[in-house]
Amino acid sequence: MLGKIRQKMIASQPLPSSKERPAVCPLCDRPIPDSQKDAHHLIPKSKGGKRTEFLHRICHKQVHALFTETELAVEFNTAEALRTHPEMQKFIAWVKNKPNDFYEKTRKSIRLKSS
Ligand SMILES: [Zn+2]
Ligand SMILES: [Zn+2]
Repeated sequence: MLGKIRQKMIASQPLPSSKERPAVCPLCDRPIPDSQKDAHHLIPKSKGGKRTEFLHRICHKQVHALFTETELAVEFNTAEALRTHPEMQKFIAWVKNKPNDFYEKTRKSIRLKSS
């Protein structure tokens, strides 16, 4: 039997020192203050996703208000994909004019409520 040689993926990028560089939200492109940092699973944990990305709390809530876990896992599993959705674009245009630490309760979209 041939033993499978598992090649370790060697990340060539140096690790950014996360303490000095503020995280930037991949959805709205604004820096994220520590108080508003939320880790989002690009593929939901329930679907076996492991990679997380930091988003603003309000951006994160918006993502989950708009999409089901299945939609996130299948269609919207990158920040780029999320940004292309018209409802997200509306949200981003709105939130961009808010302070970086702005947060308010996000309402569920009507679409998800009725399903
Ligand atoms: Zn999330
Ligand atoms: Zn954001």
